[in-house]
Amino acid sequence: MAQKKYVYFYGVSKELTEGDQTMKAVLGGKGANLAEMANANLPVPPGLTITTEACAYYSKTGGKYAPEMETQLKAQLKKLEKEMGKKLGDAKDPLLVSVRSGAAVSMPGMMDTVLNLGLNDKAVLGFIEQCGNERTGWDCYRRFIDMFGDVVMGPYTGLTHHDFEVELEALKKKYKAKEDTDLTAEQLKELTEIYKKVYQNKVKKPFPQDPWEQLDLSIRAVFGSWGSERAEKYRQINKISGLMGTAVNICTMVFGNMGARSGTGVAFTRDGGTGHSKAMGEYLIDAQGEDVVAGIRTPKHLDDMPKEKDPVWKKAYADLQKIMARLEKHYKYPQDVEFTVQEGKLYMLQTRNAKRTGLAGVRWAVEMASGVDFFTGEKQPKILNQKEALMSVSGEDLEQLLFPVFDIAAEKKAKIITSALPAGPGAAVGKIMFEAEDAEAAIEKDADEKIILVRHETSPEDVGGMWAAQGVLTSTGGMTSHAAVVARGWGKCCICGAGDLKIDYKKKTVTIDGKVYKQGDWLSLNGSTGAVYEGQLPTQVSPVVSAVVDGNAAAKKDPIYKMYEQISKWSDTHRKMNVRTNADSPADSAAARAFGAEGIGLCRTEHMFFEGDRIWAIREFILADDEKSRKGALAKLLKHQQKDFEGIFKAMDGLPVTVRLLDPPLHEFVPHTKKDQQEMAKRLGVPAKKVTQRVQELHEFNPMLGHRGCRLSITYPELCVMQTKAIIGAACKVAKLKKPVKVLPEIMIPLIGTKAELDFLEKIVRENAEEIIAKTGSKVKYMVGTMIEIPRAALTADEVAETAEFFSFGTNDLTQMTFGYSRDDIGSFLPDYLNEKILPADPFQTLDQTGVGQLVKLGVERGRETRPDLKCGICGEHGGDPESVKFCAKVGLNYVSCSPFRVPIARLAAAQAAIKG
Ligand code: ADP
Ligand code: MG
Ligand code: MG
Repeated sequence: MAQKKYVYFYGVSKELTEGDQTMKAVLGGKGANLAEMANANLPVPPGLTITTEACAYYSKTGGKYAPEMETQLKAQLKKLEKEMGKKLGDAKDPLLVSVRSGAAVSMPGMMDTVLNLGLNDKAVLGFIEQCGNERTGWDCYRRFIDMFGDVVMGPYTGLTHHDFEVELEALKKKYKAKEDTDLTAEQLKELTEIYKKVYQNKVKKPFPQDPWEQLDLSIRAVFGSWGSERAEKYRQINKISGLMGTAVNICTMVFGNMGARSGTGVAFTRDGGTGHSKAMGEYLIDAQGEDVVAGIRTPKHLDDMPKEKDPVWKKAYADLQKIMARLEKHYKYPQDVEFTVQEGKLYMLQTRNAKRTGLAGVRWAVEMASGVDFFTGEKQPKILNQKEALMSVSGEDLEQLLFPVFDIAAEKKAKIITSALPAGPGAAVGKIMFEAEDAEAAIEKDADEKIILVRHETSPEDVGGMWAAQGVLTSTGGMTSHAAVVARGWGKCCICGAGDLKIDYKKKTVTIDGKVYKQGDWLSLNGSTGAVYEGQLPTQVSPVVSAVVDGNAAAKKDPIYKMYEQISKWSDTHRKMNVRTNADSPADSAAARAFGAEGIGLCRTEHMFFEGDRIWAIREFILADDEKSRKGALAKLLKHQQKDFEGIFKAMDGLPVTVRLLDPPLHEFVPHTKKDQQEMAKRLGVPAKKVTQRVQELHEFNPMLGHRGCRLSITYPELCVMQTKAIIGAACKVAKLKKPVKVLPEIMIPLIGTKAELDFLEKIVRENAEEIIAKTGSKVKYMVGTMIEIPRAALTADEVAETAEFFSFGTNDLTQMTFGYSRDDIGSFLPDYLNEKILPADPFQTLDQTGVGQLVKLGVERGRETRPDLKCGICGEHGGDPESVKFCAKVGLNYVSCSPFRVPIARLAAAQAAIKG
């Protein structure tokens, strides 16, 4: 039997490199991309990757290495030593490595890295001899003891980075050193000795001198961190599941701490907040590893690099720019890279697809595919084609363009109390809270609570609270700090590095610009500019909404609107499925049409029954004792309904409009308090008792399964007659206007379970419609169809289609009836179901493709057996959910229908479905 491969080699050359970017599941994101960069001959320090499968084995067995893993590791390590010409732990010329973790999906800050592994009391001397820099040698050794103590031994000995920090601070004080870099080699050597004591005190064992023991313990620590609480929490919040574990990367060290010609940094090929195409980043000279993100020293801006005194930096900067451009082209996606410069030579330590806001995602897509900067009009390299661009954005990204921003005038007038780095865009208004835990608890108590989380910095333990908050404000940290990276990934408003914030966690106050703000006071953050305001600033619709819905001419010139327009245009070029809207007023219809809706998929007539005086007509109908008085009441409604339909037909000129006959139980139209019932009796001139009695009669134990939908019109055919008259009457009228409106009404009968129900009502609809059409001498064409929302209707779709000219899948009710979950009561148990992973998602938000979806598929297939050209659509909430839309395309629906603001998202999802094929 062939052995399983647990350890992969990368670097030196393409020939020696095993694996590539397609192997993320096994090598983790970091490992796969290191191999990919090595394959592209980029300067990557060579190393090994232990697979996620090895981690899975380790977790499953409670801490055992997979058989053969150790043998393979030792063999590969030999190869690495041979290639590098150095040996781990060698007293003359030691090989130093870092031990890093990396799962298939990047989890920022979740698992820590150990640098300079392989040093011990003897090797450090050999290392110094080789690099000729005593300071670097002791700096590396003391860092190694610190990281190893904290990351590897910390979890079970309580040793922390802080324990070492206090000693460092004390030593700096003793020698009056301002920065770490002011410490001399001699002083760092002294520090190393102190660190070893700190280690021994807590661990109760001396610092391990055997490099294999160091490596073995570090690998175990990385494997172990996969199941840590904070890693689990991050995965839970970000809905990451189904991964095997983390890979372990063992990388040859390169040194950014070798003096003025060395340094380390991080960079983004494009701005992940605004989407701007210019590379941005930060770096530190004479520093190692996490120094840049840790906020110990304030990093410099990437733009300053070529201006450094030593000329090596100009070259390093140029090399970095070249490599970044290459990476972007190669991955067809902006990258987030980590690099180190060792004595002028640039090394790439990591690359991955950059995190970004929705706005940045859309901007990247349109600019990378059109080759034009949408803000300045400047040219850029064309990297994507239209299809690739469309596939690179999600519905949520596009949705962010529709998010509110601050009212411009109000923001101009407001006083900026401080301003800092715009790390995550959008407008956020909320009450100050200082502890992530408190924020989480507050949201649990009241989901509508608005919170601004204010902290020195955030750490992985805070992600729950950050998620709960509207926005995050930190006093330290840069654009690549934990808070910034995490917030940007979520598209959450975030401002970082507000240095003049004085936070007092104990008193729960923050002093900004001399004024004290308490927990609970309001702040407003503009994450796109970095401005912080006191109080609650009013927010404003986005330029997209302003341009589309209000037709605002200035907004139409806004680049954000243009980006939306570009994505939507491309979506329309590629999609095959139509997108309609759910609307029941002329205003909503017009807005939806402006967003690109190609008709109405669901017009709910009952919403029209509540407006103005109409409710009194329907109540009169409900109270009526005989058919004659019922008809009298309905005659009053007819006028109004017809007017409504005329408005909607005009707004939808030339497009189909599906109107559903009255659906909810009558109980919803009568008052339920005694006082209101008395008022109703008075207004309708009947005894109060009569109202109370009728309301009681209408009470049902299970109204969702009661007297509603088509059942109403079967009991009261006059309801169906009135509505048909209103629809067809309106259609004939607007068709005859001076400027004739092209109407395509589709009359939809709800909640049928048997063909006979449909037949009964279809006859009434057709008789009345024909009569009006004949009387008005109009040529209006109409269709009669049904909603498929009862499982029996889906199962007997072949029969139903003998009568129905179209199907519209009402997936809200269909989900309710297929699962047997009341959609109004699911809130009481859904959280448990999601927590316990009994359901993968709320089935009322994302279509359950396996069960409910099967009924949709079957309904379409059987319906079309009878009527090959049967028009099929969906009108449940799922019509606006990207995943569900893709499913609808797959099963051959002609259209999806969703609320007006979801129309652009459905257009994009439909295009993505078509592109994917
Ligand atoms: P994270 O996943 O948290 O980003 P990394 O494994 O990327 O952690 O390591 C953090 C930092 O440590 C890197 O950005 C890099 O600066 C430094 N580092 C890691 N490995 C090496 C190495 N072999 N040589 C030099 N620096 C390294
Ligand atoms: Mg990294
Ligand atoms: Mg329904």
